[in-house]
Amino acid sequence: MTDRYCVFGHPVEHSKSPLIHAEFAHQTGQSIEYSAIEAPLDGFVDAWRQFVADGGRGANVTLPFKQTAFEMCDTLSHRAKRAGAVNTLILGGNGRTYGDTTDGVGLVRDLAYHRLELAGKRILVLGAGGAVRGLLEPLLQKAPSEVVIANRTATKAQQLADDFADLGKVQGGGYEDIQGTFDLVINGTSASLAGDLPPLPEQLFNKGGWAYDMMYGSEPTVFLQWAGPRGAKLLDGLGMLVEQAAESFFLWRNVHPDTSMVRDTLRQSLNY
Ligand code: NDP
Repeated sequence: MTDRYCVFGHPVEHSKSPLIHAEFAHQTGQSIEYSAIEAPLDGFVDAWRQFVADGGRGANVTLPFKQTAFEMCDTLSHRAKRAGAVNTLILGGNGRTYGDTTDGVGLVRDLAYHRLELAGKRILVLGAGGAVRGLLEPLLQKAPSEVVIANRTATKAQQLADDFADLGKVQGGGYEDIQGTFDLVINGTSASLAGDLPPLPEQLFNKGGWAYDMMYGSEPTVFLQWAGPRGAKLLDGLGMLVEQAAESFFLWRNVHPDTSMVRDTLRQSLNY
């Protein structure tokens, strides 16, 4: 029998997740069906319950429901607890809902895919929202020399730095507090969505440094367009999307799909 999965979001019609999971299923010979479901803004929990009643086994959760999913779960993984968000739901044999988050590990795996060594590196993270909170533990586990978090609302960055100080050297503040240069700058703000660029110092990258934007699209984001002429090597969030999906697929099916083919397919569909 075919097992059912889906992604819940609002809006969700442009989600690439159904395409990614169909490719994973084909490649690994797993019999699954994966759809996109737009839940009403105040109806996510009911939508999940209905999906389960209809035979659903698990789901991805995207904006704006990651926080509600976190609050709804009966059991949470360690990394979901630390992230304060859930992007993967798994229906347990006892009918209980287990929640995990794969976004942070997805980004770190994408960096590994591109052979970015993080140990001993100085890293700047822009933003202090849910995606950055989910990233900090897997990033700090790679033993960078320092992680600096800069955010428009400086207090949120300071709070995050306090919350993760047990895992390594991490400090937080506003954009005006950024000092020195970095081996990797990760844009985890949603500024790119609006075509905005956070106010950044001109001298930001070490020689051979990288700029990473969690966002992706049919052309480079404003942040990547800014970073390129300043000497950085560029990566967008498409690989993160594929890697977080692969980790969810593994949680559901206990099989690791090969992500390289799906990366190529998606890149071609974006036309650059
Ligand atoms: P949140 O809404 O939780 O956080 C948004 C962050 O962006 C906050 O730090 C906010 O600052 C900052 N911000 C928003 N607008 C501006 C602006 N104009 N200038 C400067 N800072 C701004 O969002 P998420 O953390 O969930 O998502 C962040 C980004 O990551 C999104 O672009 C999302 O698409 C992407 N993402 C990509 C994934 C992938 O698989 N590739 C997975 C998950 C997320 P303040 O606190 O001051 O409001």
